[in-house]
Amino acid sequence: MRAVAMMILCGCAMFGSVGIHAQAPTNQVDQIIDRVSAAYKVDRLNQASTIRFEEERRFEFPDHEYRSNFHELSTQRQHHILDLNNQSASSEYLTQIANSHWHGRSVAKDGKSWFILYAPQYVQEAEDQDFYGYYGRVIRSSAALLARELFNAKDTAKYIGEEMWMGKQHDKVTFEMPNSPPLNILVRKDSGMISYMDRIVGETSTVSYIYEKYEVQDGIPVAYEHSIYGNGIRLFLSLDRKLVIDDQSDKNAFEIEAGIVPEPQRVDQSAMTVEKTADNIFHVGQNEHYSTFISTNDGVVAFGMGPGFADRLQAYRQQTAIDLPLTHAIISDHHRGEMAGALDAASTGATLLVTPDALDRVQQLVAQGSPAAQIETIENQTAIGDLVVANVSTAHAGSNLVAFHEPSGTFVQTAHFSILYNNAASFAEFPAVTLNDAVTKFDWTPKIILSAESRKAGPWQAFQKAVSEFDPTACFRNRRICQNWRQGS
Ligand SMILES: [Zn+2]
Repeated sequence: MRAVAMMILCGCAMFGSVGIHAQAPTNQVDQIIDRVSAAYKVDRLNQASTIRFEEERRFEFPDHEYRSNFHELSTQRQHHILDLNNQSASSEYLTQIANSHWHGRSVAKDGKSWFILYAPQYVQEAEDQDFYGYYGRVIRSSAALLARELFNAKDTAKYIGEEMWMGKQHDKVTFEMPNSPPLNILVRKDSGMISYMDRIVGETSTVSYIYEKYEVQDGIPVAYEHSIYGNGIRLFLSLDRKLVIDDQSDKNAFEIEAGIVPEPQRVDQSAMTVEKTADNIFHVGQNEHYSTFISTNDGVVAFGMGPGFADRLQAYRQQTAIDLPLTHAIISDHHRGEMAGALDAASTGATLLVTPDALDRVQQLVAQGSPAAQIETIENQTAIGDLVVANVSTAHAGSNLVAFHEPSGTFVQTAHFSILYNNAASFAEFPAVTLNDAVTKFDWTPKIILSAESRKAGPWQAFQKAVSEFDPTACFRNRRICQNWRQGS
């Protein structure tokens, strides 16, 4: 699964709020906590068997060329159901990126944790997860749940001073939450609402949380909008937020549904391997990055330019004793992660093959070390000996280069389909379906499929079987989270 990671980087001051440090009476922090607790009905939150918290997040994905404001951006819906008194949780997401859906759920109960991947209906047992370490992010994203934490950790709370925030007077309080740096919150003097929180993560990162557009739901004030900033850069905007307490339909939220089976054993990809998959073809790599080397009479062509290409080229040369020059390096698409090894390839004198929309980025990349590198743009297709390199449009990217080696029937691609398991069928997601459609247009008869993300070669029939079994409705198990899901936005 290609999860969407948000990195929080570097340090800077934020939002220019004005501190007015006042001499506080000793019981001032208790008065503020009382005000917050009354406003958010913390008694009720503390008695709840389940608290369901729903939201829709908008992420920016620059790699997918989204450029408009956050309201138009890629959507991730999240549904969290928490039993905070028993540290049970169900945290589910459904993400739509470039018309593909990713759907998963983490579950915690009785000190154990699991992760469910809905496309193949597999569950993985998670190792030693700390409840606050993992679900603290959910608590921090809701001001109501934060109010509950403040009340329950009141012994750790300290009054800092008064501050203006968005033109309103606030009190600033700091308190402790397990497995987190201290939380600094701003509480509105007039209403007891939490408007803002920040915490210093690591040496230099300020992560800031904004809670706004309050409305009352189920008797509790809920910030309809919420944003998280890392050092002043907005990481996402969250909208359409709902809080539901003790809903009967959430009673079984911490169970794993019948028919969800343990994930089969994965192929061990931890060591660098050089594997011959056909005459003149070697698949080389480790962890998440692989390159396929195809040798011809004139030289070697490589597909798969993820980071670490120089190591893979060296392993290939050492283990095969093939010392023909690298003539061509195929960069599959415009995503930075799939071209990071191109500078290594360019420095050997190889010609880089790119899609038109990857050209700018590849030029910028090689300018750092091989400004004279040869770059060739493939609009449709080109042949290098027995190898055909073709440009196809899929859900993964508008243009992707794939390669087909006719004599061996080897088809090479990345980011659409991987052979993941030792003794079980691999599953397809939406990009694989669109790749299959694109390849059907060619007069090719593949026998073997390789991925620049995984070690094992698979039969083409396994790919086609997985594609045919993919459920295009993307509402697995008719889960609440995918009901009323906007299509095609
Ligand atoms: Zn890509």
